[in-house]
Amino acid sequence: MKDRIFELIQQYETIILHRHERPDEDAYGSQCGLAEILRASFPKKKIFCVGKEAESLVYLASLDEIPDASWENALAIITDTANTERIDDKRYLLASQLIKIDHHPNRDPYGDLCWVDTTASSTSELIYEWYLHCQSQGLLLTKEAAALLYAGIVGDTGRFLYPSTTSKTLQYASELVNYDFDRTTLHNQMYEEPINMVKLQGYVLEHFEIVENGVGKIFITKDVREQFQVSAADCSRLVSVLGAIKGIKVWALFSEDEQIRVNLRSKGPAINQIAEKYNGGGHPLASGANVPDWETAELLVQDLIKLSESNK
Ligand code: AMP
Repeated sequence: MKDRIFELIQQYETIILHRHERPDEDAYGSQCGLAEILRASFPKKKIFCVGKEAESLVYLASLDEIPDASWENALAIITDTANTERIDDKRYLLASQLIKIDHHPNRDPYGDLCWVDTTASSTSELIYEWYLHCQSQGLLLTKEAAALLYAGIVGDTGRFLYPSTTSKTLQYASELVNYDFDRTTLHNQMYEEPINMVKLQGYVLEHFEIVENGVGKIFITKDVREQFQVSAADCSRLVSVLGAIKGIKVWALFSEDEQIRVNLRSKGPAINQIAEKYNGGGHPLASGANVPDWETAELLVQDLIKLSESNK
């Protein structure tokens, strides 16, 4: 598959890279890291990265604004996106061909070529693996690409703490840090938070509840968001904070927007099926969902309790 992806890329003059909505470091890292590799390796090709910019990730890369006509005769590569509904910028539909590269469970195997490896910690890890495989055919990896892929791996492994981290992940990360990018600055950009976010973290720690059977929940209403002047996307980033609580098994952070977005995490029981039931999806230990109101949020919590009970 890696060779077939390389061959298809060679055939196109224009390549447009997409990733999922509400991007995280791995979405940006895999999308823009691959773009950097392609720009360095094929200077004559036109390579674009599209999607809505995330304010909290602008330090990683800036994205391109391009007209619809750009997709004509173009190859679209979608990274880190399990299903077509979540692809940011639906104009991928205008492309001639499509490649999917991802590490989420392959519920929606879209694309003319589809490379999914759920054993990878991150899609950025897969992009580096693809680079290593095709290196002998002339692929180049710049320090900018290395920084992006490293950020994607660090982001999706929770700084190498999550069980998805393998010896291969650590090996790749150790190879990437040999490139000449400023790792300390990158870490600071990834983990320094503005004061309102730190205060919101205090709110989360003060107001979470352990409901039953190691199930934790925190509800962040629109009022609270306004009080702290944060977006629902900002709130989402605090979900891992609750992982530090002794005895917690599965937990959900709810943040109210037009809908209520839900970030789900687990230390054991697989939560992605519950996420799918509530208009979402993801990995067994890290998923996301959406519920229309607080009553449905409570139903989701009840499902987490049942799941936790059946995994005692
Ligand atoms: P998050 O809680 O946003 O960090 O997401 C955790 C994981 O679940 C990521 O791998 C996301 O790609 C996935 N995910 C989040 N929201 C959704 C959704 N609405 N549909 C499918 N997958 C999702």
